[in-house]
Amino acid sequence: MRLCHSLALLPVASAFQLPFKVPFFNSPGQQPLRTPPIRVAIIGAGAAGTSATFWIAKAQERFGIDVEVDLYEKESYVGGRSTVVYPYGNTSLPAVELGASIFVKANKNLWRAVEEFNLTRRDFRDQSGMGIWDGEKLLFTASGGWWSWWDSAKALLRYGFHSPRRTQVFVDSMIQQFLSLYSPETPKWENMTHLSSSLGWTNLITQTTSEYLKSQGVSYKFISELVEASTRVNYGQNADGIHALEGACSLAPTGASSVEGGNFQIFENFLKHSTANVYLNTSVRSIISSSGQYVLDSDRGSETYQAVILAAPWHSTNIQLPTEISSKIPLQPYVHLHVTLFTTTLSSVPAQSFSLPASTKIPPMLLTTFEGARNGGKEPDFNSMSYHGPISDSEWVVKIFSLKRISEKWLSKMFDGKIGWVHRKEWDAYPVLPPTASFPELKLAPGFYYVNSFEPFISTMETETLASRNIVDMLLRDMFDAGICPTAPSSDTDKEDYVFGWDC
Ligand SMILES: Cc1cc2nc3c(=O)[nH]c(=O)nc-3n(C[C@H](O)[C@H](O)[C@H](O)COP(=O)(O)OP(=O)(O)OC[C@H]3O[C@@H](n4cnc5c(N)ncnc54)[C@H](O)[C@@H]3O)c2cc1C
Repeated sequence: MRLCHSLALLPVASAFQLPFKVPFFNSPGQQPLRTPPIRVAIIGAGAAGTSATFWIAKAQERFGIDVEVDLYEKESYVGGRSTVVYPYGNTSLPAVELGASIFVKANKNLWRAVEEFNLTRRDFRDQSGMGIWDGEKLLFTASGGWWSWWDSAKALLRYGFHSPRRTQVFVDSMIQQFLSLYSPETPKWENMTHLSSSLGWTNLITQTTSEYLKSQGVSYKFISELVEASTRVNYGQNADGIHALEGACSLAPTGASSVEGGNFQIFENFLKHSTANVYLNTSVRSIISSSGQYVLDSDRGSETYQAVILAAPWHSTNIQLPTEISSKIPLQPYVHLHVTLFTTTLSSVPAQSFSLPASTKIPPMLLTTFEGARNGGKEPDFNSMSYHGPISDSEWVVKIFSLKRISEKWLSKMFDGKIGWVHRKEWDAYPVLPPTASFPELKLAPGFYYVNSFEPFISTMETETLASRNIVDMLLRDMFDAGICPTAPSSDTDKEDYVFGWDC
């Protein structure tokens, strides 16, 4: 049995002394020893922070560990980059996602959360046609719902059989590997390089999407049109800039879904099913280390914790950290994205707005490629423009993602002045993701963990829940010699829909 240390018995410690471990008993009939609860601060109420409270709650249920969790969020709402607005501010109209809109079936934590929390999932089938715009020409159009154009006859005609097929094989094999993260044998990673090599993805993160697909025999035309349209709508980056792992993620939309009323409800429910004290409207300003603990200064004053989980991209938090910690977080540029949401009484964009013949039907989802600009043409004014369903018989919501502000004049010109409500939001949306072989560390100091170190690898709501699962597991092992799940696999492991963290 491990000796129990209490805080009072800790020697006056140097900064970053290893946190103490609390004895952990998992045998029936044995009770955990009474010690003061371990205090954990979590910063950020997005996918990462809220799921961290949930994973801790799962361990509390399973092992009765004594942890007190405080979650700090500077905004007044839960969800971070996943939040909704209502056209005209009218809550009787359907909510529209302002940030993260879709997740897919392979995203087992979110999928499972929707079921467990009795939320309503809806297929992401808003659009019934897509086109690819290069700034001057409409290169390709296809009818059908979200992404069904992928293997449409028109796509085969334009790109041939092999390029779509080879790309599909690449994406499918990435998904197969990804799914291993939910199995009982899931790797527990100490750093991203470790995870990348255990999943066999090193060659994906060290090459651009274009380079990798070219090496797989995919044609340049397919890459610069369909693939780039996907990387630009999902990550605001071109196929010759973004690494191939994230490129594959943007091409993996099977079962694309969202939660009726807003994806943020998943994150609210993570909190509801946790024991965390939640402090909204509470900015964390600084964290200092003192005697092996962390003193966190926020709008609610100073509090001392044995562990801190930073669940927000540090460079955007304005939190002062000890140099020993901050020096371990490399500068990470993010794509500064403009989201322009508005309503219009036009059921589609007039072809004349694009200087196209009046007979051209502009599809409800317009994606873009940079290929025209590469060849000296005009760069598209936006990354994507999509209709998101009617709010009445004669009014539709449209969403534009762009790297520059969309002016009122431009909107009015494109939509013939028929604009109603307009809502703008600028996000530091996702990391700029060039090929890389180095990532921030997960554990920046003993007891100090950084969930968003995962983002330069993959940036999605789901992967933030996976990153937090791994970090909570690491924290619990550091502090209690126990993880989220018992070491002996449960009898449920053969279940087809087994999800590590939920089912153990
Ligand atoms: C427009 C857009 C579209 C996207 N589309 C998708 C999509 O379709 N599917 C998908 O899976 N992902 C999508 N993403 C990416 C996804 O939103 C992110 O990967 C994910 O939500 C990140 O979650 P997080 O919890 O790590 O960070 P965040 O959601 O950013 O949460 C961090 C939280 O920390 C808080 N915070 C920051 N500083 C402090 C402080 N000092 N004190 C207290 N709190 C602080 C912030 O207010 C924020 O709430 C999209 C993102 C954007 C912006």
